[in-house]
Amino acid sequence: MRVLLLGSGGREHAFAWKIAQSPKLTKLFIAPGNPATAALGENVAISATDFEALKDFSLKEQIDMIVVGPEDPLVKGIYDYFKGNEATKHIAIIGPSKLGAELEGSKSFCKAFMMRHGVPTAAYQSFTKETLTEAYQFLEGLKAPYVLKADGLAAGKGVLIINDIQEAKDELAKMFDGKFGAASSKVVIEEYLKGIECSVFVLTDGKSYKILPEAKDYKRIGEGDTGLNTGGMGAVSPVPFADEVFMEKVRTRIVEPTIQGLQKDSITYNGFIFIGLMNDGGEPNVIEYNVRMGDPETEAVLPRLDADILDLFDGVANGTLDSKSFGIKPESAVTVVCVSGGYPEDYGKGYPISLPAQSDSIIFHAGTATKDGQLVTSGGRVLAVTSLGSSKEEALAKSYATIANISFEKKYFRRDIGQDL
Ligand code: ATP
Repeated sequence: MRVLLLGSGGREHAFAWKIAQSPKLTKLFIAPGNPATAALGENVAISATDFEALKDFSLKEQIDMIVVGPEDPLVKGIYDYFKGNEATKHIAIIGPSKLGAELEGSKSFCKAFMMRHGVPTAAYQSFTKETLTEAYQFLEGLKAPYVLKADGLAAGKGVLIINDIQEAKDELAKMFDGKFGAASSKVVIEEYLKGIECSVFVLTDGKSYKILPEAKDYKRIGEGDTGLNTGGMGAVSPVPFADEVFMEKVRTRIVEPTIQGLQKDSITYNGFIFIGLMNDGGEPNVIEYNVRMGDPETEAVLPRLDADILDLFDGVANGTLDSKSFGIKPESAVTVVCVSGGYPEDYGKGYPISLPAQSDSIIFHAGTATKDGQLVTSGGRVLAVTSLGSSKEEALAKSYATIANISFEKKYFRRDIGQDL
């Protein structure tokens, strides 16, 4: 199978690492990829959202399957673009249709879907500038803290949780005035859910599904979950509180109605569903769907998967996922992300990176580049260091031992990943 993987972060390095292990693989291309994916396949200098260039490249290189890492190409409709074109419709796309991607691309679409199909989630309403008065009234009827969400994609920054009602009203007005650009011309206001978060990942061909290992990620920059939100500072899998009883509730109350909902709504969906959950005393509620895997969760989940991932993808593309099977390694996986000091605000780039010649971890590259033959930092999140262990503690010890042997200027990482579990 000739595979084209889209994206360039740690998630895509983890996908490339897993795909490269498949006996079904004949050639792997990554667009645009990073220095580490270049060692597993061939990087191609095409943006993941340049559909025309991707089409030309896919035809020239006789690509059989495109695996989409990030949400942007999905929300922009890569599935429909390839399937709607006579020349490219035979190419399997691992990812949902444009309509399916709206589950992530529009929070009001996502909430309406959940309500329609009885998926447990926070009560909500959506508003625009024209309905500001009603929005204020709705806020007044809720209890603090108030949750305001820009409807569209806002790079994980479009959600505000505010304690004071007046401040919530002021922020709402700012959102309508373009605080998050067009993404906040519509705003979802919802009830605050208490509890502890975790993420469940589902692979589906639109009819049947497989539940992959769950994970918990750490979003804030500071230890003890303080400071600004980031793309993710670490992840742990499995999640101890996501026990069999909890996961069975997730399966029957959330996964099943979600898959049935896709069918009832005639939404074509061949890919991953990432379900962001709040566990309130053992009861799961959905915070959000994402239509792709998470980053850094992928770096913790894929190493636990005992599977030929291309065989699973084949099932996704051909509607035969039901006949596929895979195992889950009993080990714990822990991913600790090393970032460039200053991130998620201003940070420097181009710092030389030195990596250990050997380690007990997998060092996934997220924001790295090669400059004059030297590996350098090129983003805020630089490396995601994953280790497996017979316990979470053992895995953590391995990741931290590896990180001690990684150096680049202003390296920063959280020392408390997984400590709350
Ligand atoms: P990301 O892209 O980072 O996943 P997002 O912008 O798509 O985030 P959400 O995942 O919906 O937005 O919300 C971001 C975070 O805000 C959640 O991970 C959760 O911690 C918090 N949050 C969202 N909705 C609620 C809610 N109703 N009650 C409590 N916390 C919430």
